Amino acid sequence: MASTSVVCGRSLSFAGGWDGLPRRKWRILAGIRASGVAAPPVLADLQAKCATPLPVLRRVADAMVSGMGAGLASDDAGGLPMIPSFVDSLPRGDEKGAFYALDLGGTNFRVLKVELGGRDGRVVSSALQYVQIPQELMFRTTEELFDFIASELARFVASDGGASRQLAQGQKWELGFTFSFPVRQTSIDSGILIKWTKGFAVSGTAGRDVVACLNEAMDRQGLDMRVSALVNDTVATLAGARYWDENVMVAVILGTGTNACYIERANAIPKLQGLNPSSGEMVINTEWGAFSEGLPLTEFDRDMDSASINPGEQIFEKTISGMYLGEIARRILLKMSEDNALFGDSIPEKLTSPFVLSTPSLCAMHQDNTNDLSTVGTILTEAIGAESSVNARKTVVDVCDTIVKRAGRLAGAGIVGILEKMESDSPGLVFGKRTVVAMDGGLYEHYPQYRKYIQDAVSELLGPQISKNIIIDHNKDGSGIGAALLAAANSKYGSQILN
Ligand code: ADP
Ligand code: MG
Repeated sequence: MASTSVVCGRSLSFAGGWDGLPRRKWRILAGIRASGVAAPPVLADLQAKCATPLPVLRRVADAMVSGMGAGLASDDAGGLPMIPSFVDSLPRGDEKGAFYALDLGGTNFRVLKVELGGRDGRVVSSALQYVQIPQELMFRTTEELFDFIASELARFVASDGGASRQLAQGQKWELGFTFSFPVRQTSIDSGILIKWTKGFAVSGTAGRDVVACLNEAMDRQGLDMRVSALVNDTVATLAGARYWDENVMVAVILGTGTNACYIERANAIPKLQGLNPSSGEMVINTEWGAFSEGLPLTEFDRDMDSASINPGEQIFEKTISGMYLGEIARRILLKMSEDNALFGDSIPEKLTSPFVLSTPSLCAMHQDNTNDLSTVGTILTEAIGAESSVNARKTVVDVCDTIVKRAGRLAGAGIVGILEKMESDSPGLVFGKRTVVAMDGGLYEHYPQYRKYIQDAVSELLGPQISKNIIIDHNKDGSGIGAALLAAANSKYGSQILN
């Protein structure tokens, strides 16, 4: 009590004007006053601006529904991208035969072989190999990159005894190709690369069909293999999860980036313009990272966006995905250390470097339940070179929680938007019965509070009756097998390549 009044007294004196006091001291006193009374002003202000009470969640879910509708109508209606995947038949569980998958989405790729034994046998066996792409190939020609991929694939096939297996006359092995770069898909087995991202600068690929590039490279390697399905990782995750559970209707990735896909009725996709799949359905890749309406954003989000390589784009992704949560927190902590002397008299030098604070670090600090928050202290020292008081560490945890709470709850609102879109078109399709949302990605997998906040938002928006049947289910690495299953579902030979 006494110390509070002293601090208040000082701040009152300050309000009266402390001319001549160095700006630095000024901030320290302001900080002491604030933390002695209630939450520091920057934190309280942040919490207010990031708040996601029910009306905000409702606004976001509704905006997601209308953004989806606009995107399905036309590419120019200002909605979400809503890209038709040309996946119109999902795995049923009775697929048979041996299929391959190749997953290219970053500096590693994965090759996978699965042998499917039909409804009773399911996945009889599978083999997986990770290959690192040599750095220099990211800057060479299309042929050099795809020849490398095809040669590693040939090596994998040979090492698995593939050469000794029998292919019927005229048949080739079939491959599902998961390619997580922006592609304008033209059919299930063709797609034009719009541009490379994630640090790739391979010449001559933009504007070309990446399936043809891979097929030609496999021919050059003498590999009896063809691409049967080109998909992105979200669609592959949906397929992988659906193989085991026919109630899976939506798949969401929450990793470095974020995306979602779901099963849509073909006649609800005006922009397909009469291209009607026989199943009457098609998986839509929403590219929901591009969503932006109604989000509670702060100056920290806006500054991060302005400094990014794609300002004004991928705002939902920048608010909820793993690449950005640590960076948002870093910007807030920098402001607090400038205005409230969070880490004492000087500002930790490292804290001024963009992306120095990672989302896994945020997560590790958030899990600390020691009395003096010693893990938080260690991470702050290691990551940003900051010495911290216990009070400062508490503030840091509050910042982590504020950012992750907003992210998880907004992701939950997005999921509800997708479910409500499906339900409003076809009452009874997803509500009132068991419906599964398949989730994958490192952020979802490793961040328990994030998972809880997603679930909270879904329950608040849908109410206990409906939400108890909505199962949000982690589907780790389902995308690999999902791509192989889509090769089976789209097999030229009736998914019956036998060993
Ligand atoms: P990608 O999205 O690149 O395909 P992942 O799905 O494995 O890869 O997700 C990786 C991302 O997940 C990282 O960029 C990071 O943001 C997040 N992540 C990884 N580990 C953790 C962790 N321990 N805690 C919180 N987030 C994590
Ligand atoms: Mg991934």
